[in-house]
Amino acid sequence: MNKTDLTNLSLSQLTEFLVKLGLPKYRGIQVFAWLYRPHVTDFSQMTDLSKDLRDTLAAQASFDWPHIAEIEHAKDGTAKYGFKLKDDNYIEAVLIPEEDRKTLCISTQVGCAMACEFCLTGSIGFKRNLTPGEIVGQVVRVRDWLLDRNETTAGLNNLVFMGMGEPLANFDNLLVALDILIEQRGLDFSERRITVSTCGLVPKIIELGQKTKVNLAISLHSVDDSVRSKLMPINNKYPLAILLEACRNFPMPKRKRIMFEYILIKDINDSEADAEMLAQKLKGIPCKINLLPYNESESLPFRRPSHETIERFQQTLWNAGYTVLVRSSRGADISAACGQLAGKIIS
Ligand code: SF4
Repeated sequence: MNKTDLTNLSLSQLTEFLVKLGLPKYRGIQVFAWLYRPHVTDFSQMTDLSKDLRDTLAAQASFDWPHIAEIEHAKDGTAKYGFKLKDDNYIEAVLIPEEDRKTLCISTQVGCAMACEFCLTGSIGFKRNLTPGEIVGQVVRVRDWLLDRNETTAGLNNLVFMGMGEPLANFDNLLVALDILIEQRGLDFSERRITVSTCGLVPKIIELGQKTKVNLAISLHSVDDSVRSKLMPINNKYPLAILLEACRNFPMPKRKRIMFEYILIKDINDSEADAEMLAQKLKGIPCKINLLPYNESESLPFRRPSHETIERFQQTLWNAGYTVLVRSSRGADISAACGQLAGKIIS
């Protein structure tokens, strides 16, 4: 008999499952809360459930988190976790410690179908979507790993969906995972501290805004359609005008802003004219801009611009009144930086 994997169920779905087994509704909250307590890996640990109930659960259901198969540590404190999935596929998550918080960057797919030119994940192609449990499991396992080492998890309150895969291409599972992550009796993350990044799947952008309150990040990288289409094939389907219109219509409370990610690549999108065009095109959209100087990799031909070019680009955007950060590359020495996740540590 196929057991139901409880890690794939939101609180309401889990409750429904238990009700179908003839159990009262309140058991849903009880079992759900157990699943997300640190280091719980077996029904026998759920000590306030009767032995009969635990046996029933063990007969009908399972809950397995992905295993951390390997960890690499960068000089700057960034850690990259390679997870082994049940079907032997691998995914990666990256923990970025900062002074006052820890940010975990997690994956939503094995590989990615979007084929962005500058991205190593894109270069390995798409294998499959992650289940909700595999998405949430990255958080559960890293939290437990930190606890095992007596490291505080108090600062682990920032999540970014910027690892392997395009989150909005795995939309249904993303929504269930978000449900579990923000549920108080689950992992209790604040939606304000979760950012979902997309390369521009326009129809799902608005739906994300309607169904959640998480932050939106757009991988923009150029506001010239011909350049962007070369860098990011999705632009052929949803060109800039349509993408930026979706951003203008993204449901957001006041003071909230969309984050535009812009990888600066030498001689591709880093000119003064590019900066001016970017300032022009984003007019009227409440936003912040993150400039990410390209992380060079042996297997891709792109290069990083000089410091002067990066500074000039930033200055042009500042002059136009934008909030602009140049994001330092974290974990580049272990291929954990933006666009570098490709299952390398495992292979
Ligand atoms: S940048 Fe994101 S969307 Fe593009 S190929 Fe890489 S993982 Fe996929």
